Amino acid sequence: MEMFKDFLLHVSFILFPIFLYHALWLSRTPAHFPKTNKLLITVFASISSALCIMYPVGSILDLQTGLQSIPLVLAILYGGYMAGIVAILISIIVKFVMYGSFLWIGLIVVPIYFFIPFLFYRKWHQYSKPNKLFYGVLIGLSKGFFIYIGLFVVSLMAYSPAFIMQQKLLELFFSTLYYIFFLVLSIYSIEFVKENAEMRSQLVQSEKLTIVSELAASVAHEVRNPLTVVRGFIQLLFSSDNTKEPPANKDYKNLVLSELDRAQDIITSYLDIAKQNYYQIESLNLSKLLEECASLMTSYANFKSVTIHQSIEPDLYIQGDVTKIKQVMINLIKNAIEAAPEHEGKIELFASKENHKICLYFVDNGVGMTESQMKKLGEPYYTLKNKGTGLGLTVTFSIIENHHGTIRFKSSLQSGTTVTVKFPEDTRRK
Ligand code: ADP
Ligand code: MG
Repeated sequence: MEMFKDFLLHVSFILFPIFLYHALWLSRTPAHFPKTNKLLITVFASISSALCIMYPVGSILDLQTGLQSIPLVLAILYGGYMAGIVAILISIIVKFVMYGSFLWIGLIVVPIYFFIPFLFYRKWHQYSKPNKLFYGVLIGLSKGFFIYIGLFVVSLMAYSPAFIMQQKLLELFFSTLYYIFFLVLSIYSIEFVKENAEMRSQLVQSEKLTIVSELAASVAHEVRNPLTVVRGFIQLLFSSDNTKEPPANKDYKNLVLSELDRAQDIITSYLDIAKQNYYQIESLNLSKLLEECASLMTSYANFKSVTIHQSIEPDLYIQGDVTKIKQVMINLIKNAIEAAPEHEGKIELFASKENHKICLYFVDNGVGMTESQMKKLGEPYYTLKNKGTGLGLTVTFSIIENHHGTIRFKSSLQSGTTVTVKFPEDTRRK
């Protein structure tokens, strides 16, 4: 019973910081999901491991039965090498200060044991939740395994096979079970807390979008039909050649048509936002699609005296909706062309595969943006152009998000912008 109480104490030492991390860090900025705070992870892991060591389960000599290494494993998996190593060192110092000595066998077993979570760390964030829980079980099992090995070695050194029997083997067995259970529970809690924070930031983002889409789309739909009719008839009227007309009339005609086209563009963007939910996912060749979009935009580029260069690896596949992805590419290429300077304008398109991600780069040598301008990208109606809608990137962002991709902007004023888009590779296709 006493042991059970001690275990519960350890569990609270471990779980409390996890939720505190959520309260202090993840909930800080509801609109953006923050980066991992490695310092906070290191501090929390060190403190909770130290507390577990100070209040051990059972007797002090039974240190290995406690849960003190769970925070250290979590620090490695979620905080990385530095966080893990610092927390481990601190826990070793605490152990030494509290109890004066440690079993020398620990010097061999501890590094081998922590080596295993270090193996998992690099790819940890890519694993799905069930995989993480499964690997949690493996890591827990490895700890039990190493303790038995350690005991075996000690008993061999002591030349007394009876030594093994003296250790409470059954108790050790149960403590390994506890250990696995609480390690998996901690991983589950962290994932739960993270998912929650991510969901909240997505909600804030999509709330903005919903406001634009729902109201605007219904209006847009109603306006588009009469507009199409008007455009058709105006074109018909204009096509009758009237030679007595003053030459200025021709400019006016073009202006009327181009403004009508612009109105239609705006309406189409609104409808695109509203139609975000209808995705037809299939395996698609991103290389071909990018080449296609580049040639589609060539005439617009020529019109602005901008050249487009391409360096696209063949056969890059993702799972996605062709029309939506095309829209993303066209929006980004269009923005690049519009940003580029007249005459020396140059746009480069790259596509490649890096770490199971398909990466697209849209590079221009245009006007660029300041930091504060970049923060506003994707907000509905944000535009710096006279005739811009400020909806292109809003649509683009939400399409990319729906494909589980990411978009990054790197820009400096007057020297240009690089937009990086990454999609998960279509792994079913080899
Ligand atoms: P629009 O193109 O209609 O203005 P977007 O949502 O496509 O709307 O873009 C919003 C704003 O972001 C643009 O007005 C422009 O100021 C800025 N922007 C986007 N892409 C670039 C780029 N490649 N270089 C410089 N500024 C850009
Ligand atoms: Mg645009």
